[in-house]
Amino acid sequence: MTTPEEFYSYYTQEGGAGWFARLGELRQAIIRCDGPAVLDILRSRCIIDPDDPGGCWIWTGAKRSGYGYIGRGPTNRLAHRISWEAARQFTQHLGSLSVHHKCGRRLCINPQHLAAVTHLENTAEMLGRQYYEARISALEDALRVYDPKNKLLTRLPKPLPPEE
Ligand SMILES: [Zn+2]
Repeated sequence: MTTPEEFYSYYTQEGGAGWFARLGELRQAIIRCDGPAVLDILRSRCIIDPDDPGGCWIWTGAKRSGYGYIGRGPTNRLAHRISWEAARQFTQHLGSLSVHHKCGRRLCINPQHLAAVTHLENTAEMLGRQYYEARISALEDALRVYDPKNKLLTRLPKPLPPEE
């Protein structure tokens, strides 16, 4: 795997300073391994509920398979994986680990909502959540028949559907 440090030396030595200067601010910050700057830029490209600062950061940029995606070129990455690494100042690399969305929203890139897990754990958690959500929906449907105004039928809104 190419590390951000290797990107940085590639751009500054092989490509020359002009090459680096032409990159966007986000890619430059990633290559510099500047975690706080990367998080600031990522946050500025998200929708965040001002009344809920610890809430989801919903990515508004490019998407791939329902996940936030960052640009072209060698720093191409899923936005939430970049966010996870940026929050750790790029001192830890995910490698083959998956990043689990604790909030269940694929487009969320709030590092507080992300956990590194093995692929197996991530799949197990996702299947468990799908089973749980299906049970809740079935119970809600049943309750709606008998008591359409029941308070339990006004639980939190469902997560945003994934976009392409
Ligand atoms: Zn979230």
